[in-house]
Amino acid sequence: MSKPRVSSPASAQRVSSAKNRRGRGGGARTILPDPRISPRFAGLVTFGRYPRFEDVSPENRPVDWAVFGVPFDGGVTYRPGARFGPRAIREESQYLKRYSLAHNVDVCERLSLCDAGDAPVAPYDCEANAKRVYEFARGFEDRRARLLALGGDHSIAYACIRAAHERAGSPKGGLAFLHFDSHLDTVDAVWGEKWGHASPFRRAIEEGIVNPRRMISVGIKGPLNSADDLAFARDHGVTIIPGEEAARNGERGLRAFVRKLGGAPAYVSFDIDCVDPAFAPGTGTPSVGGLTSAQALELVRSCAGANVVGGDVVEVLPDRDHAGITALLAAHIAFEIICLTTVS
Ligand code: MN
Ligand code: MN
Repeated sequence: MSKPRVSSPASAQRVSSAKNRRGRGGGARTILPDPRISPRFAGLVTFGRYPRFEDVSPENRPVDWAVFGVPFDGGVTYRPGARFGPRAIREESQYLKRYSLAHNVDVCERLSLCDAGDAPVAPYDCEANAKRVYEFARGFEDRRARLLALGGDHSIAYACIRAAHERAGSPKGGLAFLHFDSHLDTVDAVWGEKWGHASPFRRAIEEGIVNPRRMISVGIKGPLNSADDLAFARDHGVTIIPGEEAARNGERGLRAFVRKLGGAPAYVSFDIDCVDPAFAPGTGTPSVGGLTSAQALELVRSCAGANVVGGDVVEVLPDRDHAGITALLAAHIAFEIICLTTVS
């Protein structure tokens, strides 16, 4: 009997690197384990089976994207549990693959991708948590890397936007902002908490790190308390594509919006609750009548051409999920956000 081949992550990486190096321009930028040696259901779990940041070879540094988790749900106004989101998304990301049919690109050949682990969190304190996540993201070693956060609840977006703004050279007037959500998340405070998941964009706009005139919120439908819920965003010039319109032909509006940005650095924030709970039940503030998963993927793809400098996918709540479908969708949305930077 022949000796079985050991499929440690390191040996799998070596084998697959030879194969990957056949790529155009002399090398794959992201070395994935060879699925015929280390199958997708085996081995340690990282997002997309991308190497851990510390395992990225010198020739593939600096990385283009570092994916990291933010296991925090202290900012929720309704059902908790999104702190388990990053783990669930990583688990469901094992079946992501490297080629994007929509953009006709081998993403791992083009980009150096890695999993940077989880940011440190402060489970009892939203503001302290934001500080920790911000420090982690701001200080991330590869200065050129874009960061993609896996939530966690939406409160974590504030820290990630602030870090992205700084890493992009603190553009005057703030970042452009592509926001997918059922909710605007521009409430001033809930129960006196100004750093919860209802408020991240209020804080970001107040601070000037997001430019509301270059912000679009797609899929908005509430449920709302009153028309006043929309007032802050409208008064500050945020473009809103309501849920129904987003489902009908949100792509057109998004493409026009992205064209107008003219390459301004943009952040993408995707709250999974913009997708109908029939497709994405695992979330803390479910909102019926939302997008289908196919529509959500198309909407993100229609942001091609935007100069994406960072992003997040948030509000996955695995305890309310069924068969991992919400986390699976979140993994694919994250991949689509990464794909946008192969286009521009
Ligand atoms: Mn949100
Ligand atoms: Mn939401």
